[in-house]
Amino acid sequence: LTKQFGQAVKVLEQIESFGYDAYFVGGCVRDSLLHRQIGDIDIATSAKPGVIQQIFSKVIPIGLEHGTVIVRHHHQSYEVTTFRVDDHYTDQRHPDTVQFVQTINRDLERRDFTINALAMDKNGYIIDLFHGEEDIRNGIIRSVGNGYDRFTEDPLRIMRAIRFSSQLGFSLDDHTLKAMQSVKNELKSIAVERILQETSKFFAGAYIKTGMYYFKLINLAAYLPVLQDNGHIMKRLPEQIKPLKSFGAVIAMFHVVKPDISIHTWVKEWKCSNKTKFEAESLYEALWHYKHDGLDQWLVYRLHSNSYNDFVRLVNMLFGEHLTKQKINELLRSLPIHSKQELAVNGDDLCHLFPERQKGPWIGNTLKQIEKHVVTGKLSNHKNALKEWVKWNPHVTG
Ligand code: ATP
Ligand code: MG
Repeated sequence: LTKQFGQAVKVLEQIESFGYDAYFVGGCVRDSLLHRQIGDIDIATSAKPGVIQQIFSKVIPIGLEHGTVIVRHHHQSYEVTTFRVDDHYTDQRHPDTVQFVQTINRDLERRDFTINALAMDKNGYIIDLFHGEEDIRNGIIRSVGNGYDRFTEDPLRIMRAIRFSSQLGFSLDDHTLKAMQSVKNELKSIAVERILQETSKFFAGAYIKTGMYYFKLINLAAYLPVLQDNGHIMKRLPEQIKPLKSFGAVIAMFHVVKPDISIHTWVKEWKCSNKTKFEAESLYEALWHYKHDGLDQWLVYRLHSNSYNDFVRLVNMLFGEHLTKQKINELLRSLPIHSKQELAVNGDDLCHLFPERQKGPWIGNTLKQIEKHVVTGKLSNHKNALKEWVKWNPHVTG
């Protein structure tokens, strides 16, 4: 079982050799039991952050006040957190104070769900205080302890339950679901940054249809930015919803089904990064282009390679098409150039062609025209051919 943890086992051994306890915890243990690809490896230890900083040479302190550091070992990062219990969550973002504790057992008690409250030692022995393994086998998400108290303590856990159902295809335990229903109003006090993180993972879940069932059952939309005033958007989403990797794609989808809410509004209300904003805009533009001109070279040329999968899914979901990634790849292979750096002319060449002209926006505009013509095969990417074209089409470029 510990095989896929590879070099990470060495990190546990290293900590133990100094007389402290150390375990793999949380998602990585859950996912390895599920034979899913494990993501980040989190480690819990009795050693305080200061000790970890002494044991390892490369340690990045990311949350010392919560007992967390990143240990770099063999070019891998491990989040190492001292055993702790959380106190109150008054700002609904982080526990106000944490209290370090001596044993892994107390640390496991503070965790959200039984499937996440598992620890594993260096030999693959699993500590399972709350029947998490059984819940994994049966595909059930269940609060650790009293659900009502645990959701009140940190209402974000309501969203986390639903995003795990979307990622794993698990059902929610009845008591847990009831507790979620009765506490869900408290979600309004949660910082949007935390909500975004969970929502983004929710839409990317391989079992989004299961997740969506609970999302609608709880009426989560009523507690989320933008959606709370536009709950009917959820009904407009395609029945055959597919996982979307980037939240930008999710925004693009919402913008297609409800065009009067701008991408700008989504980005602002959800406090998204510029990267997400860019993804949303370029995917929306690509969808628009697809709808009006179909799939062509100019479309795939401009689409970022990270967006190919989301684009294909959006087209199929929203327009009921049967587009494949292969189709995109074929078009990509037929492109004469893949970026504007590959154009046979540049800004300087244009200036030399028209020495009488001042530098200005005409240069960029002209290059854009040339780029489009080259990509779509209307011009061949040779310096002389391009110069000739520019000379004979000064009205296009001037
Ligand atoms: P993923 O693979 O998507 O990262 P994960 O289980 O690792 O899933 P994280 O959000 O990375 O989820 O959290 C790591 C672990 O920390 C969880 O498995 C859980 O034990 C604990 N945890 C995280 N957030 C909370 C929370 N709000 N309340 C209680 N425990 C939490
Ligand atoms: Mg994780």
